[in-house]
Amino acid sequence: MEKNKADLIVIGAGPGGYVAAIRAAQLGMNVVCIDKRKTLGGTCLNVGCIPSKALLHSSHKYDEAKNHLDSFGIKVNNVELDLSQMMENKDKVVQQLTAGIDYLFNKNKVKRIEGTARLRSSEEVEVNGEVWKAKYILIATGSESASLPGVSINEKNIVSSTGALSLPTTPKELIVIGGGYIGLELGSVWQRLGSKVTVVEYMDRLVPQMDHELGAALQKSLSKQGMTFKLSTQVKDVTEKSNHVLVSIESSKGAEQLEADVVLVSTGRKPYVDDLGLESVGVARNEKGFIVVNQNYETSVSGVFAIGDVIPGPMLAHKAEEEGVAVIETIVGQKGHVNYDTIPSVIYTHPEVASVGKTEEQLKSEERAYKVGKFPFSANSRAKSVGTPEGFVKVLADPLTDLVLGVHIIGPDAGTLIAEAVLAMEFSASSEDIARTCHAHPTLNEAVKEAALAVEERAIHI
Ligand code: FAD
Repeated sequence: MEKNKADLIVIGAGPGGYVAAIRAAQLGMNVVCIDKRKTLGGTCLNVGCIPSKALLHSSHKYDEAKNHLDSFGIKVNNVELDLSQMMENKDKVVQQLTAGIDYLFNKNKVKRIEGTARLRSSEEVEVNGEVWKAKYILIATGSESASLPGVSINEKNIVSSTGALSLPTTPKELIVIGGGYIGLELGSVWQRLGSKVTVVEYMDRLVPQMDHELGAALQKSLSKQGMTFKLSTQVKDVTEKSNHVLVSIESSKGAEQLEADVVLVSTGRKPYVDDLGLESVGVARNEKGFIVVNQNYETSVSGVFAIGDVIPGPMLAHKAEEEGVAVIETIVGQKGHVNYDTIPSVIYTHPEVASVGKTEEQLKSEERAYKVGKFPFSANSRAKSVGTPEGFVKVLADPLTDLVLGVHIIGPDAGTLIAEAVLAMEFSASSEDIARTCHAHPTLNEAVKEAALAVEERAIHI
């Protein structure tokens, strides 16, 4: 490789960028991947998916030991929380996984540069005072938390998800602004560790983009666990007062002031393009700030591509990864493709919630006929035997063709169970295809089969 020359420069080493870099190297390209973080893996590995799941797992174990093992005949006395050890474990997981990406880069001969990249032209990127040149540039700079107007995050007592992943002590009272998946997951962590958690949501339901039945069931379940919800409620102001934070809210019931030691602002994320030099090169963005791309992920500037959270679509790691592979395969002349109709979304609360395809609300608004097959985990032998009989599987199918249109699950391991539905939809399966597939017994997956059987009202175990 000529000095400071590559076939492809990738800006951002999150799940979009690092996967694209590896796929490009597999296909014979000389690849440089630039990220300003010390460690690879982007938001997902450093301050997103991975640390949140590590804390969800640890806090679930703590909650089980403290409150639930008795019913299995296991007596555990004096259960104590060692928060710094829990955080240390989370940090270790993050360290091991981010180092794993270094290993993969070395294995695939992807050159890594630590530094902030800025576009100089459609073929040039500046980093650490040097200019790198390549035929193709891929922007995968991801997203950042979006706060509320007038609310400044200090990551101490007014925190974003990043601060909420590293609180030094368990807050007595935690207010979560925003009832989306990040707020509910991190709210669950601290609720299990002893905080009194209140979730304030502007809309009249939790996770409004998901099938409404799931949001309602999740709210019921989290309420039973001790969380409080204030829906259809607007946050007017957030201010610090001595060691406390005051949150002024307003709903149809009137105005109210809440008080907490920590407030988590989880009101969504916005594309991150600060100091990237997009304007000088002419890369167009839409009204919400996302980079505009065509079906090949090429921006308004020829040779400059973009993927992941920085372009429109669900802000999810697996969506970014799929785009990372598709963009590279398209660049080299293969048929890269992402099926946006089969991207699953998962909330890793307890119970988990998972969805793929159309919701009932979407089908209704499209005036499309559908059949529903539903099966509760309370009638699934495995869920019963492991003590997690809460929730259900819902299969939506076309009444004429029987094509599966959507699958929605709340219950044990929903995030893993949804993969079966995603695969079925990817292969254009009918509900009968799922229903006639042999599922091992006793497994949670049998609930998916039974829900598919229920589409034609022939579930066996209910
Ligand atoms: P990112 O992962 O954001 O990576 C972008 C990288 O670009 C960053 O490392 C940044 O430092 C770098 N960068 C930006 N600008 C520059 C520049 N100019 N020069 C050099 N480097 C630059 N998604 C899921 O699918 N499942 C989950 O369970 C999940 N949980 C989450 C939990 C939390 C708390 C959060 C915050 C997010 C979660 N997400 C989850 C979302 C997921 O993290 C993102 O969708 C994903 O990381 C997007 O990948 P990306 O590659 O587009 O960008």
